[in-house]
Amino acid sequence: MNYIEPHGHMVSRTTDDYERMALAGCAVICEPAFWAGFDRASAQGFADYFRQITQYEPKRAARFGIEHYSWLCINPKEAEDTALAAEVMALIPEFLNQPNVLGIGEIGLNKNSRNELKVFEQHLQLAQDHQQLVLIHTPHLEDKRKGTRLILDALKNFSGLNPGRVLVDHVEEHTAGMVLEQGFWAGLTLYPESKCTPARAIDILENFRAEQLWINSACDWGISDPLAVPRTLQMMRQRGWTQAMIERVAWNNPTQFLSQSPKFKQPSKA
Ligand SMILES: [Zn+2]
Repeated sequence: MNYIEPHGHMVSRTTDDYERMALAGCAVICEPAFWAGFDRASAQGFADYFRQITQYEPKRAARFGIEHYSWLCINPKEAEDTALAAEVMALIPEFLNQPNVLGIGEIGLNKNSRNELKVFEQHLQLAQDHQQLVLIHTPHLEDKRKGTRLILDALKNFSGLNPGRVLVDHVEEHTAGMVLEQGFWAGLTLYPESKCTPARAIDILENFRAEQLWINSACDWGISDPLAVPRTLQMMRQRGWTQAMIERVAWNNPTQFLSQSPKFKQPSKA
């Protein structure tokens, strides 16, 4: 069955992983800008990274028939230096014209610091000014509830950003409700060690009838599984989910959210 990987950091993956994902039915991968395993020393490092995810990764994906899209920002892990953040954000408008760029992301908070919040708000302004979709990273573990509250509060000051065009990712049991109640989309990240296991993610999806939600593997520089999405779809089958409900999560929901960008081409299913 075809599926969409709506949040994968392919710069940290080998070409073999693209092949394995294609064999598992992956038709589309969306790559948010994030930490790449090390702190970059200058804005030039980010310019190269933006070229990598807007020009090189789409070609690597295309070898396996996968459409590749990306999102742009300076991630919260490297946003503590606000002068560097300003230089990187100044690079973004010229890259927004690239044909595979869907919006601003993944922005948000990592340690809930004052500087991170300031840079987060500057990105929201950029998204509002350029009418871009927004993809948001929420902090891990014990900081998640507090960070998610700060993020939702900050969003209230941006009336030009329609909640239906904003997705808050890495939600868990204690944060999914507050995100969805305010009209935002939410993402569940499937990690072998932290964040959600497939079983927990399926429980959350059942609680919210799988509406305005997507699942992703992140498949980043840390311990993660690029096949976490198809493995979770398989577990849904074993738990008696209907084919229509599985397709909603694997395909229809991400397509509905991403199609709000005119750059996103409706993918064809094999
Ligand atoms: Zn990510």
